[in-house]
Amino acid sequence: MNKKHIHNFIEKAYREEKFTNKEIINLLKLDNEESQELFKVADFIRKKYVGNDIHLRGLIEFSNICERNCRYCGLRRDNKKLSRYRLMPEEIVNYAEKCEKLGYRTVVLQSGEDSFYTARIISDIVREIKQRTNLATALCIGERKRE
Ligand code: SF4
Repeated sequence: MNKKHIHNFIEKAYREEKFTNKEIINLLKLDNEESQELFKVADFIRKKYVGNDIHLRGLIEFSNICERNCRYCGLRRDNKKLSRYRLMPEEIVNYAEKCEKLGYRTVVLQSGEDSFYTARIISDIVREIKQRTNLATALCIGERKRE
């Protein structure tokens, strides 16, 4: 990417605040010096939306059961030393309510790759959290099929 391209990309970031996948890949290839202008725009956009405060996220680790075996990870299925647990949907929603009462505005639902929680169960949990709270909700639950 030449300097003009980089400048156009960064201008687009400022104006539209969104990129295509291809543009993101190109931005990830910028070297340290080329990235500085992008960092300035990112910092400006961050300030615009969240100011200079620190925002904490509630993290609900609702299952440490995992069907995968990543060697670096304590949750891997072959780790027999770990005692395993799994929260039921109602418990997860209750913890989310508690997070909101404690002042969190975002909650992350995190687990190993545990197929006990079907897409249906996960979507019911998220829907229930949305109905009972004003929390933004993010998922970190391993790989899932797109649908
Ligand atoms: S999929 Fe995630 S939780 Fe499971 S073993 Fe790998 S890193 Fe750990």
